[in-house]
Amino acid sequence: MGVPLRQQLTVASYLMKQKLTGVKKYPLVLMLEPLFRCNLACAGCGKIDYPDEILDKRLSFEECMQAVDECGAPMVSIPGGEPLIHKEMPQIVAGIIARKKFVYLCTNALLLKKRIDDYKPSPYLTFSIHLDGMQDRHDASVCQDGVFDRAVEAIKLALGKGFRVTVNCTLFQGEKAHEVAEFLDYCMELGVEGVTIAPGFSYEHAPRQDVFIKGTAVKELFRGIFKIGKKRNWKLNHSSLYLDFLAGNQSYDCTPWGNPTRNVFGWQKPCYLLSDEGYANSFKELIDTTAWGKYGTVNNPKCASCMAHCGYEATAVEDMLKHPLKGLLTSIRGPRTEGDMVPEPIPQYVDEKPLPVFAGIPIRVE
Ligand code: SF4
Ligand code: SF4
Repeated sequence: MGVPLRQQLTVASYLMKQKLTGVKKYPLVLMLEPLFRCNLACAGCGKIDYPDEILDKRLSFEECMQAVDECGAPMVSIPGGEPLIHKEMPQIVAGIIARKKFVYLCTNALLLKKRIDDYKPSPYLTFSIHLDGMQDRHDASVCQDGVFDRAVEAIKLALGKGFRVTVNCTLFQGEKAHEVAEFLDYCMELGVEGVTIAPGFSYEHAPRQDVFIKGTAVKELFRGIFKIGKKRNWKLNHSSLYLDFLAGNQSYDCTPWGNPTRNVFGWQKPCYLLSDEGYANSFKELIDTTAWGKYGTVNNPKCASCMAHCGYEATAVEDMLKHPLKGLLTSIRGPRTEGDMVPEPIPQYVDEKPLPVFAGIPIRVE
């Protein structure tokens, strides 16, 4: 775990408060998306497939602060789009820090060199740099040559200026465990605080659908990575039980309200990943009116292959609170990489294929 003690204690005391006050659905990380516009067009991106009038929209500083205050989560992640394009971003970040929330500013780093002096190092601010692997893999993933080199240059610059820096890595088809291990070694050499790593979610709106890894292949890949990792000292920015889930050892339902999303449309139902399920006007309305039971791997075909941290990290944290000994032992031993995996979830939904039609009338065949 790469997270500093101050942040761990703040989050732990927030979790205790939720438990003591009996709050059932509480947010852990606010996903604040103040714009969808990006200066890249990655193959697996589910965020940039909007017309120009939507890509030109921005959440204002005031709207961002209102979202942070309404939600109350101790951590705020600012993905996008590319947040550094937003003209008010330094003000937004300063406003979140003034509220003593931990902010992760997610960036592909192309603009970081130019904009870095708009920010001041703080224990509350982390640049989370998008890197999906070593040079060939990353440049292929973002569909542009030279991006890896610029991101690495930006990481070194930010570290040199005293900023907290993490790497945000998404894994796609064709990954090999030893290549991911080599990449994690490289991140540690760079001196970043930690790496966030997860399988890419198969966004319906992604330009390409053949890039995502699914089901048992994900778990086998992670077992291969963690097997190599037993002899390394990687700092991964996840709870031990989420990593154990990725390795196929935990059977979890998702906790979509753990990472609520506010973007230019409103509060997105039910989570950061699904974008066609409607919006709420306030965080309270999101919590009160979302049909949460409709979602999750077994309940909804759109969720079928999801193992994303924005859905399952909060579940793992909740499990850790209920079973601290299991969490502690998994932290010490690392995820299990041998033996049976938990069974694949059995869908409880019926695929909604179009019904056959007879003389213009749809007929249901039992
Ligand atoms: S994945 Fe990130 S960097 Fe790539 S196009 Fe989407 S928002 Fe931009
Ligand atoms: S499983 Fe949960 S987090 Fe994943 S897409 Fe479905 S609702 Fe969202």
